[in-house]
Amino acid sequence: MKESPSFKKLVLIPGYQCNNRCVFCINADKRALKIKDTAAARAEIIRGAARGCDYLEFAGGENTIRPDFCELVRCAAGAGFRRIAVATNGRMFSYPAFARRAADSGLNEVIFSVHGHTPALHDGLTRVRGSFRQLLRGIENVKKVMKGTLGTNTTVMNGNYRQLPEIGRFISGFGFYNSEFIFADPTYGGVKNDLERLMPRISECAPYMRACLDLAASWPRPARPGALGYNWAARYVPLCHFRDYYPLQISEAREALIYANVQHVAPDYTNLDAVKGRRELGREKPASCRGCALYARCEGIWKEYLKVYGAAELKPVKK
Ligand code: SF4
Repeated sequence: MKESPSFKKLVLIPGYQCNNRCVFCINADKRALKIKDTAAARAEIIRGAARGCDYLEFAGGENTIRPDFCELVRCAAGAGFRRIAVATNGRMFSYPAFARRAADSGLNEVIFSVHGHTPALHDGLTRVRGSFRQLLRGIENVKKVMKGTLGTNTTVMNGNYRQLPEIGRFISGFGFYNSEFIFADPTYGGVKNDLERLMPRISECAPYMRACLDLAASWPRPARPGALGYNWAARYVPLCHFRDYYPLQISEAREALIYANVQHVAPDYTNLDAVKGRRELGREKPASCRGCALYARCEGIWKEYLKVYGAAELKPVKK
């Protein structure tokens, strides 16, 4: 049963500019690409609405540093998007007037990137001292002015996976219960460039990720059978290490329940079926997966991971 009507989601990346320098950023090598200016970004929003999209997520890069950010949010609201979200490092929201302006423009979902539960851990990964302090202020400001959906995402990498249960407890203190823990993506960018230093072994980080997901076990679930309730999930993980968490705590499985389609539009590419693209281009089920009971549901593991670490950690599930 679906929790809500199927959304058709447009993930719009108007540019890759950012005020952080996260070590793991998949777009680390794309900063210099020409951004979509206001007119081009507005045109993409209107085209997305015309294709039937009703959920817009601004992703990047850091879109809140664009002077036209609130104008683009208003454009999306005017074009008929029901949910208007931004994935953000949260720093601009530390300015109360900005948080208020974004909410008044129609922004009704904010996904904050939280990569550590202390200034030393978070700032060490973003490589901007003070980014954690600004993020926390941003969260507080947004909580005051926005009634919509608030959540977080956390990239899981060598620098933070052992602290995941603490990070999870810290995040749950915000009271959002919409959080994703994302196995780092080495397809390109920061992790690909320094894979063995940054990319965790799935067999080593999975127990910490599972301990983090287990924090949600005692939270109330909705009475409706099959309803999704809170979203406290792992993304991009091979299911053999998370078989007890499928489907409600596996992001891709939740996505399949919620979204009819996910489209990505960026300065350097357009992909009107982003889920298929990721499954076919980024991830792989090696030969050793054949015969696995979860084969049809599982997206496997990153191709770049397999090239360096091999497939020995993937264990086909018998039944
Ligand atoms: S298909 Fe492969 S990666 Fe997926 S659960 Fe089975 S063994 Fe693991």
